Amino acid sequence: MPSAHRVLLILGDQLSFDLASLQPLDPQQDLLLMVEVMEEATHVAHHPQKIALIFSAMRHFAEALRGKGYRVQYVTLDDPDNSGSIPGELQRWQTLTGADEIHITECGDWRLEQSIKDSGLPVHWHSDSRFLCSREAFAEWASGKKQLRMEFFYREMRRKSRLLLNGDGTPVGGAWNFDAENRKALPKHTKAPYPARFVNDDITRQVLTLVSKRFATHYGSLDDFNYPMTHTDAQALWHYFLDYGLAGFGDYQDAMASDEPFLFHARISAALNIGLLDLRQLCSDVEAAYWSGSIGLNAAEGFIRQLIGWREYVRGVYWLKMPDYAEGNVFGNSRPLPEFYWTGQTQMNCMRQAIGQSLQHAYAHHIQRLMVTGNFALLAGIAPKEICEWYLAIYMDAFDWVELPNTLGMVMHADGGYLGSKPYCASGQYINRMSDYCGDCAYKVKETSTDNACPFNALYWHFLMRHGDILRGNQRMGMMYKNLDRMPLAKQDALWQRGQMLLAKLDNGEAF
Ligand code: SF4
Repeated sequence: MPSAHRVLLILGDQLSFDLASLQPLDPQQDLLLMVEVMEEATHVAHHPQKIALIFSAMRHFAEALRGKGYRVQYVTLDDPDNSGSIPGELQRWQTLTGADEIHITECGDWRLEQSIKDSGLPVHWHSDSRFLCSREAFAEWASGKKQLRMEFFYREMRRKSRLLLNGDGTPVGGAWNFDAENRKALPKHTKAPYPARFVNDDITRQVLTLVSKRFATHYGSLDDFNYPMTHTDAQALWHYFLDYGLAGFGDYQDAMASDEPFLFHARISAALNIGLLDLRQLCSDVEAAYWSGSIGLNAAEGFIRQLIGWREYVRGVYWLKMPDYAEGNVFGNSRPLPEFYWTGQTQMNCMRQAIGQSLQHAYAHHIQRLMVTGNFALLAGIAPKEICEWYLAIYMDAFDWVELPNTLGMVMHADGGYLGSKPYCASGQYINRMSDYCGDCAYKVKETSTDNACPFNALYWHFLMRHGDILRGNQRMGMMYKNLDRMPLAKQDALWQRGQMLLAKLDNGEAF
């Protein structure tokens, strides 16, 4: 058995050569430990492609570290001595090596970090320097504020990173945010770039075989597995996006189209979240593309805001508010998640498209998640824990620190407005404006309370009516309630009745 002075754990979302806990590494004395464990693969029923990505990328990273001369102990899922959990493996390898210290970079999941802390092992924690804003710095920024605003945090991050700033510290283009220019609908017959493709090597093929056997009951297909597994391939995906996607990304980042699962989106979030890409490099490449004149300011600013604004902000909120944050349920929702979220079998074309591509690719872009599947869950009063679990399970890039605030806070408004100042609720009109889904739908988007009226319409008004006590006082909801109040009572009643009928169908386990 190898002896070691220290054991340095590398988790499946920590595959970065500059990981903080690797910096004190003594290659002769210390042992790097990487483990595939059932507990992390099954605490929710993760999409098989997500499990395959993490295991394969871990195995490739272990090889790369060995190539650099490091001592790596890699425990595969089917190792007969595998204890099945991270704390169990830490305990086992501390005993086997006689290590005095265990070094770990902060986890991305409160549950896992707490379970390691509860183990009583001699762990030295390292701040995750891959993020721009540490947990402590965020807590300091948030201290004393009654309500947090992402926009102000984002400006701080722009100043800190010096991205898209003039010499005098003012924002390039005279404004911090050009989001209003990023909401264009896709012109008819627009063709998105053909997605970059990756060839599965022996390591990935072995992992795919393992995952297909061991996780056969998890929802989602392994058939279209097409993700980068190494830093080199992740760079290739990134450069493919810079060359072919970025110019269209800004204008059409909110657009949706049938049978176009990726459009101009980069698809790099999974690679970034597991450590195959570096946040600072991505931002400086996008800034360079702007200065070179190859992309507009709205595309560059919008992309950078997602990374140093929203992404860092939700992580800060997560660590500031956990574990209580996960219990948020301001609307008191208790409806189970409809079965069609796991199968895509619904007549609503927008939902079928968004869920179908999620099952096929473990991917949907932010507007599909927020304004289609998320919007439906909000309007239908789905229990926050159930929809949060679905997002965490189904998406390739979903880790608790990023999934929970986005779903519970932004999608479900279940935190009472801590993360977002109003719920992102919308009728079918929004989906119709931003997509071509409605043309091929069994329902009529322009109808509200007839038998084949778009379900989003009645559910939207039903949502406003049933939660008026909470939402009427919200200034940003004023226009919506004005429109409701102007509506003839007979129409309000028809919408309420159709909403009741649709919710009763969900309660009976019926799809529509
Ligand atoms: Fe979705 Fe309604 Fe449009 Fe159908 S009509 S695609 S349900 S928004």
